[in-house]
Amino acid sequence: MKNYQQPDSNGHFGKFGGQFVPETLIQPLKVLEEMFLEQISNEDFVQEFINLCKEFTGRPTPLTYADRLTKHYGKAKIYLKREDLCHTGAHKINNALGQILLARKLNKTRIIAETGAGQHGVAVATVCAKFGLKCQVYMGEIDITRQNLNVFRMKLLGAEVIPVTSGSRTLKDATNEAIRDWVTNCENTHYIIGSVVGPHPYPMMVREFQKIIGIEVKQQIYAFENRLPDYIVACVGGGSNAIGIFYPFIEDNVKLIGVEAAGHGLGTDLHCATLTKGRPGIFQGMISYLLQTEEGNIKTVHSISAGLDYPGVGPEHSYLKDSNRVYYSQATDSEAIAATKLLSSMEGILPALETAHALAHLEILLPKTSPNEVVVVNISGRGDKDLNTIINNITF
Ligand SMILES: *Cc1c(COP(=O)(O)O)cnc(C)c1O
Repeated sequence: MKNYQQPDSNGHFGKFGGQFVPETLIQPLKVLEEMFLEQISNEDFVQEFINLCKEFTGRPTPLTYADRLTKHYGKAKIYLKREDLCHTGAHKINNALGQILLARKLNKTRIIAETGAGQHGVAVATVCAKFGLKCQVYMGEIDITRQNLNVFRMKLLGAEVIPVTSGSRTLKDATNEAIRDWVTNCENTHYIIGSVVGPHPYPMMVREFQKIIGIEVKQQIYAFENRLPDYIVACVGGGSNAIGIFYPFIEDNVKLIGVEAAGHGLGTDLHCATLTKGRPGIFQGMISYLLQTEEGNIKTVHSISAGLDYPGVGPEHSYLKDSNRVYYSQATDSEAIAATKLLSSMEGILPALETAHALAHLEILLPKTSPNEVVVVNISGRGDKDLNTIINNITF
């Protein structure tokens, strides 16, 4: 895919993306886009971002050769990109840092966010503490009960968690409340979205802050192998860790594989394999693949990993699927648990359950590879947060 330039100037990735928002948000989105485009080509801003990534997050994260896992499969060499070693335990901090720097440029004094499992809420609360900005996080009442440890973390970081009692009282309702808040308060408030989703410019902007993952991989794999990898594998919820590692390789001859959550299986209703089983629709300000009923209502989705449990997906992934540049596969809950066990015992790295979906795909991919090939897996986060779920789903 040479000369890849997405989105176009209207925020469209092919027929996906766009801005489907209340009219009052068109202007704030325009201001945000202009500030983003100005700052991303401003050397001082980029340097400030890179310095924070280095001194606060701990970047560059290592690329680790998985020696025993490679021997286990006996085929291609496997390397792991260690986003699990980022401050706060996952890649989400990359985007939170980039956006808070932008909020400061926009002279905003208040930050809002939505969160499902609480991981994005924690990343936002963290950067707000670092910069002394007021932080309010919308979270469904059901998620608040399920994820009480992250609620406590956010409070400890100085954020206020606002319970959402409408609808299904989960992520999509929290997002609706956050948008409602932003419509009312956009004068002094910046809304930090947690993945490459939402209205333009968010999918592009979040990608630009996450592409540091792939930029580092490119340098690191050259140092090890003196060439590009053959495959890059990443899990896909909204799609930010995946696009972050894929994007710098889009014009290269590298096979890119995104892995969605198949939950209890694609034959059931309990999954969130949006790109595999969904069809295009409008959701949260964008056109993208979407898990919806015949009548166009959003389906209830399921994954053992809270971070993949989302009925939509970023518009750029919809575009990359339809143009066949990225291949999208799936892994079930039980395959993810097996992969968690395998990586932990073979490499001493406990992956997040989201990440485990990418690792589960190695079972399908590796037998098809040869020993002179190279595979990179994005380890999007660490599994400590998932120990309670893992305990209830694993047998030794
Ligand atoms: C949130 C999260 C994900 C899913 O989000 P993407 O935007 O698809 O990357 C994946 N892995 C971890 C560890 C997460 O916390």
